[in-house]
Amino acid sequence: MLITKEEIIQFIEYIENYDTIIIHRHVRPDPDAVGSQLGLKVLLESAFPNKRILAAGTITEGLSWMGRMDEVKSEDYEEALVIVTDTANQDRIDGKQYDQGQKLIKIDHHLIVDAYGDLQMAYPEATSASQLITEIALQSEGHIPLTVEASKLLYAGIVADTGRFLYNPTPETFEMAMHLVTYPIDTRKITDQFSEKSVEEARFEGYAYQNIQFYDEGVASLVITRDIMRQYGITEEATNIVLTIPSNVTGMYTWVNFIEQEGDNPKYRVRLRSKGPAINGIAEAHDGGGHAMASGAKADSEEEMNEIINELKQITQEYRQTNK
Ligand code: AMP
Repeated sequence: MLITKEEIIQFIEYIENYDTIIIHRHVRPDPDAVGSQLGLKVLLESAFPNKRILAAGTITEGLSWMGRMDEVKSEDYEEALVIVTDTANQDRIDGKQYDQGQKLIKIDHHLIVDAYGDLQMAYPEATSASQLITEIALQSEGHIPLTVEASKLLYAGIVADTGRFLYNPTPETFEMAMHLVTYPIDTRKITDQFSEKSVEEARFEGYAYQNIQFYDEGVASLVITRDIMRQYGITEEATNIVLTIPSNVTGMYTWVNFIEQEGDNPKYRVRLRSKGPAINGIAEAHDGGGHAMASGAKADSEEEMNEIINELKQITQEYRQTNK
């Protein structure tokens, strides 16, 4: 277990003291953001049926199978406890009124770049925020027991953020998953939600395989323009399916997707991934951040995209030299 006993006790005390609890997570939610947010919501609803537990933010079409967000009004914050899951920095919180509550709790597994909140349970060694929510339930000594509904959401979050247990799962990752699968949840169905794709998405995947640039330095890159998304009939969210392609190509260590945005601010969303050198430094230098092996940033021009590719080439070459 990663979270300290003192933090769990303090967390339960905060929960017991508030009748309204509003849970936020980051913008552009992924299954771990929603899994940790809604997983915690259903856990608290079941343990404290008299409290109002609200989930704030906007959910995307692709994640609507996980549940729905609540309509949260300004006045709801007046007497509320606010919890933010899976969000390293405050400017990435979905829902700008998150700081209008009485107290603020952060539960996160990213590198600590912005220490916000009256209580912070921030453990970069956790592979997902859903793993931490599972821990809270297990360590709560019966105050917040796991439920079937929560187990589905939390398992989805863990599976998604570890790429189905591929990306550096730890003993704690498996331990939490083990507890969740003791509940009658359809793990196959949950995993299928991530792997199934539409015909349009399958065709787009073909496009990506043909157009990814593979560089000798061990770097791969793909530019996805709005025109291409229109041509293949896919959403920006669906471009997710091609992000991990280079991870299985021999000799590739780092890779990047540049996704053209509507409007010019920024022009491109930058999604960086690695299975070798830490790439979060490059993300931070381009108005972003994230984890050592998965980060996001912004690029305003082709020139900046080339800079990012060159920076990746440099750290990848260095990495390969020291890890021959
Ligand atoms: P993504 O490529 O959007 O899946 O993001 C990968 C990781 O980087 C996630 O953990 C995000 O929280 C983080 N991240 C993405 N974009 C940004 C950004 N602009 N600033 C800080 N962190 C980011």
